[in-house]
Amino acid sequence: MIDPGHGGYDEGGRSSDGRIVENVYNLMISNKIKTLLEKEGVNAPIKHLYNSAAIADLEKKYDEVFADREELRREVEDLKNQLARNKKLNEEIAEYLKNEAVKKRKAVYGNTVFIRGLIEISNICKNDCLYCGIRCSNKTCDRYRLTKDEILSCCDEGYSLGFRTFVMQGGEDLHFTDELLIEIISEIKQKYPDCAVTLSLGERSYESYKKLYDAGADRYLLRHETADEEHYNKLHPEKMSYKTRMECLKNLKEIGFQTGCGFMVGSPYQTTENIAKDLKFIEEFSPEMCGIGPFIPHNATEFKDFPSGDVDLTCFLLSVIRLIKPTILLPATTALGTAEQGGREKGILCGANVIMPNLSPHSVRKKYELYNNKLISGNESAQEIENLKNSMKNIGYEIVTDRGDIKR
Ligand code: SAM
Repeated sequence: MIDPGHGGYDEGGRSSDGRIVENVYNLMISNKIKTLLEKEGVNAPIKHLYNSAAIADLEKKYDEVFADREELRREVEDLKNQLARNKKLNEEIAEYLKNEAVKKRKAVYGNTVFIRGLIEISNICKNDCLYCGIRCSNKTCDRYRLTKDEILSCCDEGYSLGFRTFVMQGGEDLHFTDELLIEIISEIKQKYPDCAVTLSLGERSYESYKKLYDAGADRYLLRHETADEEHYNKLHPEKMSYKTRMECLKNLKEIGFQTGCGFMVGSPYQTTENIAKDLKFIEEFSPEMCGIGPFIPHNATEFKDFPSGDVDLTCFLLSVIRLIKPTILLPATTALGTAEQGGREKGILCGANVIMPNLSPHSVRKKYELYNNKLISGNESAQEIENLKNSMKNIGYEIVTDRGDIKR
């Protein structure tokens, strides 16, 4: 019996460039071994074993099977070594791209890191994105929305801590009408004219985006999620459409927003070809910002059993995006910090130049749960920003008090 170790949805590890997925290679090698064994008259079914006793038993049999088949053993060992060599080669490529990306980011932004104060204004959402913990069909989600005064006091606290960009992010909550948002944006801009306001509130009409822009909003983040329509349809309910998403992004750019797109790395059904399309889209759309982070399952979604996206692949893609667009504003996301301790630092070291600490009231942070175990610090914001400053300093970077616009 041959155990490939990974198979089906259990894809195992990925090489840092994302091209080698463990289950594909393992199955390929397993099939080759099976053919070789069968030629020798050995019956070798492929099965995935989870039980350690069964695996130990198999290893004994491995010795038995190969005892008088030296040539066959060598061929099998060769295949295993080939896999190890490919892995090493991919690591070397990732290291090279990382160094080139850092050179580019340093030429444009030096060692500065921009911070954005993230205010999660509502977890109420009319959409039902299959991957998202705040999707409308999640009945276990404890819903909230912030009032205008609560949002403004997050800005007050943020300003005193050195934030010069506030990001209002939320589900598609119909309570936040154009009128209400215009009021909030105007008040922030009036009080803090030296600050940028970024919105991340999903899909709205051209007219709505235009009104928000005219009220003073500077930037808008709307991840494209995937640049492949078929893949988009696997991640979203029928009601949502790839064309609308792309249309929104085009409108935002046309209106004059500094626009951000982005995608999840390792989202369910994502292929290497999909990622290539994402990179091509980024190159052609030429956004000012791009948010990428690993997909992390949420236990109240139907994607709960899919594996998380790979941290090394995310970092590799951050380097590639930095090389495609050297001036782009590229965050090391919270998802990256959640998927691995020190993930955000890793992202900065691979070419990212933005971090988005949370300024939402502590009472709601847990409720804005897009995925399992979202990184939430129990510290006060002042302490949190102090810790971040230190962790950036430790890796040779410096958090600055700056609006952090894109360098043209
Ligand atoms: N409603 C707005 C929108 O759709 O753009 C903003 C909020 S939405 C929750 C922000 C982003 O979170 C999405 O664009 C998506 O890429 C990311 N996200 C949602 N669920 C996730 C998950 N399970 N793992 C990682 N990222 C996730």
